[in-house]
Amino acid sequence: MHIRRIFLNFTCAFLVGSAVLAASGSGAVAQDAKRAIEQVAGDVYRFQNNFHYAVFVVTEDGIVVTDPINSDADNWLKSELAKRFNKPVTHMVLSHFHGDHASGGEAWGGGLTVIAHEKTKAHIADGATTTAMPTKTLSDTMMFKAGGKSFELTYLGEGHSDDLIAMVVRPENVAFVVDAVSPKRVPYRDFPRTDIDGLLKQIKVVEGLDFEILAPGHGPIAAKQDATDMREYIEKLKAAVTAELKAGKSVDDAIASVTMDDYKGWGAYDRWRELNIRGMARWLKESGQVQ
Ligand SMILES: [Zn+2]
Repeated sequence: MHIRRIFLNFTCAFLVGSAVLAASGSGAVAQDAKRAIEQVAGDVYRFQNNFHYAVFVVTEDGIVVTDPINSDADNWLKSELAKRFNKPVTHMVLSHFHGDHASGGEAWGGGLTVIAHEKTKAHIADGATTTAMPTKTLSDTMMFKAGGKSFELTYLGEGHSDDLIAMVVRPENVAFVVDAVSPKRVPYRDFPRTDIDGLLKQIKVVEGLDFEILAPGHGPIAAKQDATDMREYIEKLKAAVTAELKAGKSVDDAIASVTMDDYKGWGAYDRWRELNIRGMARWLKESGQVQ
């Protein structure tokens, strides 16, 4: 249990650290975060904090927010919502516990309903992330209504973290999906601490949901097809790297031959294709699928 806790904390620190590095790499500093609000569809909006996004929904009765991202971002959102909508925030839905998405939720103060997976609550209780404590949890699915909107929450299983949920908002048919799918971009670096078969299953659960518009935690607003495209990329990469390694080739050989040319137009292809192959090879060996 203790080892697992350390592992989870490290995951958070890694993700937060990489976000800060990414921000400083573009010449920005933490105090000058790039922040914006854009409409996704109907009453569904999303807000941006550098490379992270979270949706919020303006209902007849109040506003349903999701990941706070961090306390500075959440305080900024709080003041923007007060200026633009003059409605109370009634609910907060957390996608998963990772600190680069879930931290800072205490900025809303008490009194709102905080919804998350039961494992997210356990991670927060363990001190993995500092945010508002969930007041309602789900284990598999949950549906709630607020101000004329329906919110369908679905647990995605273990893969990218063990507590990730997707949220579909109706009538807009928008899905908020964090980290399992980043549209039109190759997967993050070398699949750090990711169970790749679990990740593929998570994406299949997303594909099985009924929605049209994909509002991701990273990257542009997209469509359901983008989840399928991401799964196919990972499946092709897995098959190609497996074939190379089983043929006795080295990882460097695989990097030379597995070019994934169909994906040259995707974001981070030049930077992360090689890392994707290294991560896939490492995971195939660690999981015993190749020698
Ligand atoms: Zn995450």
